Amino acid sequence: MRPLLTQGNGKVGTAIHLWSLPAIGTCPGSTEQCRSVCYANSGHFALPSVKERLNWCYKQSLRKDFVSRMVSEIRRKGVLVLRVHVSGDFFNKEYAEKWLDIMRQLPRVRFYWYSRSWRVPEIAPVLEQMAALKCCRAWYSLDRQTGLPATVPPGVRLAYLQAEDQEEPELLDLLFVVRKLRRHAQRVSLPLLCPHQADKRENCGACGKCFR
Ligand code: SF4
Repeated sequence: MRPLLTQGNGKVGTAIHLWSLPAIGTCPGSTEQCRSVCYANSGHFALPSVKERLNWCYKQSLRKDFVSRMVSEIRRKGVLVLRVHVSGDFFNKEYAEKWLDIMRQLPRVRFYWYSRSWRVPEIAPVLEQMAALKCCRAWYSLDRQTGLPATVPPGVRLAYLQAEDQEEPELLDLLFVVRKLRRHAQRVSLPLLCPHQADKRENCGACGKCFR
């Protein structure tokens, strides 16, 4: 059967396995700002073969056997680190609960995700349960239109996406900048900038900040 997971790409590194969904349509917490700069809406992600695969993944995520298939594939492949959603997000409560179930069954695997679905009241409690698991590294994604969560739940860190020069985020643990700001960000050496974007680490596998 066609595998659910793929192996990491250049930026993420081959030591990390990936699961993705079609971007934007599965992102109920997205903002106009993040949709306008979404990397998963162009380039490699616009290839027909990639679009076809992401749509296939979405269909698999709706199936009743999604959890058991994912768990057995993770075991069979000996996955150590899994990034949930290079593109896409937790699109509803039921789907988020499926991932919570998968994580609970695989406490030795390291899962990590970035999500704006914390903005959706019925999904947020499930994300909080994932964040409380030792095997999960949870990042709430922010931009200037998301606002801040009322409280930051235990286990959650904040990743801010900066799209304009003049933005001064108040609260963050990690900063991403859009492509047009990268040169400037590298010059001023922002302390919380993702090391890959700052050109200091070759990939996420070598860095590990997001999943260790
Ligand atoms: S901080 Fe490190 S692990 Fe996180 S996205 Fe950047 S390079 Fe990858």
